[in-house]
Amino acid sequence: MKPTTITWTCPHCERDTAVTVHPYVPARVSGPPEDCYPAQSGGIYPAHCANCDASIDVGTALEQANEQEADALAARADEECDRRRDEGA
Ligand SMILES: [Zn+2]
Repeated sequence: MKPTTITWTCPHCERDTAVTVHPYVPARVSGPPEDCYPAQSGGIYPAHCANCDASIDVGTALEQANEQEADALAARADEECDRRRDEGA
């Protein structure tokens, strides 16, 4: 999974912040030692609201990322339907 950038709305000051959500990355333990790394837990950046310094909850950010992704997919499906309808298929 690639990092996802979402628009996170602060529940305290309602300011929108672009937040990059990094999913969990499993450890790599094979191959040359210099290529190995431990598992990295998912994280978010930035972790605080730039406006009021409220901490951004990873779970909430992930939820919003999923919702925004679902919305984007739904919007794309709608567009595709409209396009086919316009073509008179
Ligand atoms: Zn805030």
